[in-house]
Amino acid sequence: MISGAPASGKGTQCELITKKYDLVHVAAGDLLRAEVASGTENGKRAKEFMEKGQLVPNEIVVMMVKDRLSQQDSEEKGWLLDGYPRSQSQATALKSFGFDPDIFILLEVPEEILVERVVGRRLDPVTGKIYHLKYSPPETEEIAARLTQRFDDTEEKVKLRLVTHNSNVEDVLSMYGDITVKLDGSQPKLEVFSQIDSILSELLEKKVAALGPVAA
Ligand code: ADP
Ligand code: AMP
Repeated sequence: MISGAPASGKGTQCELITKKYDLVHVAAGDLLRAEVASGTENGKRAKEFMEKGQLVPNEIVVMMVKDRLSQQDSEEKGWLLDGYPRSQSQATALKSFGFDPDIFILLEVPEEILVERVVGRRLDPVTGKIYHLKYSPPETEEIAARLTQRFDDTEEKVKLRLVTHNSNVEDVLSMYGDITVKLDGSQPKLEVFSQIDSILSELLEKKVAALGPVAA
C-alpha cells in the first residue's frame, strides 16, 4: 500500500514500482475518475464529494476497490494499492475481505511543496503518465499539447483535500503501525524510488526465502 497527502507522489512512485515489479496498480482516485467519466449514478454522486475535497462515501468506494483487487490479474501478479484506505473503516473493510498488505509506505511532504505540485500537475490521457510543468515536463511538443489537468487540482481544492487527509492520516496509520515505513517524499522522484526499491527487494527476498527451497 502507498499512502500520503494529495500530490505527495504516490502515482509517480506507482509508475516506477509497477514497471520494475509488475504489480497491478489500483488507485482509488483513478477508479473514481473513471466512474465520473462514464457518467454513472455512482460517478455523479462521487463527483460531488471530490469537488469538495471530501472522502467519497464508503458504499461507493469500498466495493469498487474490492472488485478491482479480486480480478484475476491482481490475484496473480499482486497489487499495489494507492489512495486506499483513507479511513479506519475502509481499512477494516479491506481486512474483512481478506486483503492484507505486506507493507504500508507513507510519503511525507511539506504542505507548501504539495500545493506547487498540485497546481503544476498534468496528465497524458493517451499513456496515463503523470507530468509536472516544472519537475517532470513532457518530453515532446506533441505530448505537451494534449496534456490535461484534473478538475480538483486547484490551490483552493487542494487545501480542502489536505484538511481531509490530515484529519484521517493518524487513524489509518494506527491500523498498519507494524508494517509502516515513512519516507521523505520531498526528494527527487528517483531518490524516493531508490528507497522504495530497496525496501521492496528486501521484502521480496524474505517472501521467496519463506517459501523454502523449490523442489527440483
Ligand atoms: P499523488 O498520486 O500522490 O497525488 P502524483 O504522483 O500525481 O501525486 O504527483 C503530483 C505531482 O508532483 C505530479 O505533477 C508529479 O509529476 C510531481 N511529483 C511527484 N513526485 C515528485 C518528486 N519527488 N519531486 C518533484 N515532483 C514530483
Ligand atoms: P486522488 O486521486 O487519490 O487524489 O483522489 C481524488 C479524490 O477522490 C479525493 O479527494 C476523494 O474525494 C476521492 N477519493 C480517492 N480515494 C478515496 C478513498 N479511498 N475514499 C474516499 N474517497 C476517495
